[in-house]
Amino acid sequence: MSTQSTTHLFGETPTRIGYEDQEWSVWEAGLDDIHDKDTLADALELANELNAIFAELRLRNSSENSPVMHAVVLHYGYAWTQATEHARGLDCGHPDCGRCATDRAIPKAATR
Ligand SMILES: [Zn+2]
Repeated sequence: MSTQSTTHLFGETPTRIGYEDQEWSVWEAGLDDIHDKDTLADALELANELNAIFAELRLRNSSENSPVMHAVVLHYGYAWTQATEHARGLDCGHPDCGRCATDRAIPKAATR
């Protein structure tokens, strides 16, 4: 696990930040904490809450020395956005994604 400047969250060779066997989690960049979540909805909710809190902290304490804190949703340990998953040709994991639902036409019994 590396949070140095060489970390690439997205792109062709993204750096794995979390755990490969954990489907959904939220990474707090700057604090380097990872919270495991059961679903994408739960992960997005926590990420939104954290980012709101971090934004508030930045407004109150704009010191240049304070770490850049933001929350990133992780999918199997890699930074997740719907667009980047699609760009890599992957199932974004969003339950309501029409584009990926087509690929899920043959449901896997173990899913969910
Ligand atoms: Zn999708």
